[in-house]
Amino acid sequence: MNPFEYVRASDRHSAIDAANSPGAPARFLAGGTNLIDLMREGVEQPRRLVDITRLSLTAVEERAGGGIRIGAMVRNSHLASHPIVRERFPLLSYAILNGASAQLRNMATTGGNLLQRTRCYYFYDTATRCNKREPGSGCDALGGFNRIHAILGASSQCIATHPSDMCVALAALDATVNVESATGVRAVPFADFHRLPGETPEVDTNLQRGELITSIDLPGSSAGLRSAYRKVRDRASYAFALVSVAAAMRIADGRIDDLRLALGGVAHKPWRAVAAERTLLGAVPTPEAFARAADAELAPAVPQAHNRFKIALTKRTIVAVLSELSGVDGGAT
Ligand code: SF4
Repeated sequence: MNPFEYVRASDRHSAIDAANSPGAPARFLAGGTNLIDLMREGVEQPRRLVDITRLSLTAVEERAGGGIRIGAMVRNSHLASHPIVRERFPLLSYAILNGASAQLRNMATTGGNLLQRTRCYYFYDTATRCNKREPGSGCDALGGFNRIHAILGASSQCIATHPSDMCVALAALDATVNVESATGVRAVPFADFHRLPGETPEVDTNLQRGELITSIDLPGSSAGLRSAYRKVRDRASYAFALVSVAAAMRIADGRIDDLRLALGGVAHKPWRAVAAERTLLGAVPTPEAFARAADAELAPAVPQAHNRFKIALTKRTIVAVLSELSGVDGGAT
């Protein structure tokens, strides 16, 4: 591990000041469940760690209209079991409980979950070529073993996927990420928070240097919908998704009146399934309609040598989840 300076911040302003002081690059340290591993492996080499665990960003607060504000330092385990979350946004709770282990959820924070990095094997192996770790070096996943990699939104520079379960639910629930910097505050719609790899796969998010995530808002319009999260993985626990589907739905007068659908394990960012949603809004819920919607979403999918199965798996999982939510018989995943 490279030498680094450790700074413990007492409030948001001192944290932002410390992250922006000359001599950076600096990283904020919250739960550390991914960052410390990356530092041990030599993948991340910050000169300064700014410990933000003392910041008072630990509340889940009710907001006007039935929404909630989740502090960036709320632990994943606390968030998953929070009564308001379980009552109004159970999708978020389901997704969190599908991620990691109980011990990791006790440490991991809401803000940190957004910033965890891909689990591409080559990214962690400093003996291999990886454009995300070392821009311009190449991508050994392209010609290597790429079973877990992306089928949507990838580029010739990087085919990695985003590892979070929680973020798939947040994408479906129309979350907003609140950030603060030395120049003020801003709110980032969740769809704009993470990036596709394009020509700069080393940049995972649209956060600016020194910006601190302070909270995440969930709007009341996402509350109370029937919802489900299904994660397909190689083993039953403590594994990342090959494919996951987060869905929230309302049916009125026999037709789909509201639908939020997001996919995990298929792209460099949590993937909001806009084409599928558009296909299904106003439609009668049937397995055939769900299959057509999945086809629309997956039309631009480009598989790699070892992950063609993800296209069919994603389609089956979408159909199964939406069938379950709408009470129609869509078969098993
Ligand atoms: Fe690196 Fe992305 Fe290629 Fe994986 S897929 S080796 S993270 S550039």
